[in-house]
Amino acid sequence: MLVVMQHSASDAEIARVVEAIEEMGYQARPMPGRQRTTVGIVGNDGKLDGSRFTAMPGVLEVIHVTQPYKQVSREWKAENSVVHLPGGLTIGGEEVVLMAGPCSVESESQILGVAHAVREAGAVILRGGAFKPRTSPYSFQGLGRKGLELLRRARQETGLLVVTEALDPEGVDLVAEVADIIQIGARNMQNFSLLKRAGRAKKPVLLKRGIAATITELLLSAEYLLAEGNDQIVLCERGVRGFDPATRNVFDVTAIPVVHKLSHLPIIADPSHGTGLRDKVTPMARAAVAAGADGLLIEVHPDPDRALSDGAQSLAPAQFVELVRQVRAIAEVLGRRVAEPAEVS
Ligand code: PEP
Ligand code: MN
Repeated sequence: MLVVMQHSASDAEIARVVEAIEEMGYQARPMPGRQRTTVGIVGNDGKLDGSRFTAMPGVLEVIHVTQPYKQVSREWKAENSVVHLPGGLTIGGEEVVLMAGPCSVESESQILGVAHAVREAGAVILRGGAFKPRTSPYSFQGLGRKGLELLRRARQETGLLVVTEALDPEGVDLVAEVADIIQIGARNMQNFSLLKRAGRAKKPVLLKRGIAATITELLLSAEYLLAEGNDQIVLCERGVRGFDPATRNVFDVTAIPVVHKLSHLPIIADPSHGTGLRDKVTPMARAAVAAGADGLLIEVHPDPDRALSDGAQSLAPAQFVELVRQVRAIAEVLGRRVAEPAEVS
């Protein structure tokens, strides 16, 4: 439930509402807005009686949140949430943010080389897995801590920010030491202990849609992060499993406007995992930006055919240059622009 205060409500009136919520045994989340303050109630399971609040001075109205999730919903917060990153970069504002890099960090020369290449092309965030969730236990599992060190070096050398995956709750702190954004992968979208730990981390989280997750389930997983106090969340559409082997996944472009309507959180798109096929990545990247995606996550490898993971969906650097050119034009049509790399001296 949300208690919407009048425009003219005083601080004391807001404090009284907060007090009343706490007396009932719940937590109050006051949210000052441009027009008025709204006080959200969390901790209740089920509908509350709002009449106690409507009678209080300074209260305009009481709104019942109709969705199973609360804090992620547009009903809870009407304005878009913006995620703030070092160097003034934001996700969820006007700019479309490009994240690119290999599926896995494989070696120093690979990650440094590709970091320079994607930066040159227009990416502002470097992606690359150090800890890899692989379907087979015999597949390359990532370089682990060494991979994180290489990402740290690439960050220092290029000025690119870093997004990389934490596979388990223990990995969150380790990843947070290096990463600007902690990635939670599709296979872990409903790993609730991982979500709770990431919710307590003081770093933004990139939450990828599960392989067979509904949008409601994605938003409920994001709710776990918010419930633990982390409101720096970026959602990611990365395709869901379909019945047709023509593509690796079914890239759900519709999820982008659906999420934008239901939630104030930004959503980016990963057409690499979404399609699994190199030649489908750029068309779906265009579609995603046209649909309103706040950014893209693109796998780029210096030599895709020799990649240790996901080579078939990885772009060569020159193909990424062309993707960026096309996506810039589409962003412009929508009155947006692709975020520019910061100048590094
Ligand atoms: C990845 O980003 O490399 C990855 C493993 O993605 P997902 O969790 O979406 O499969
Ligand atoms: Mn991958």
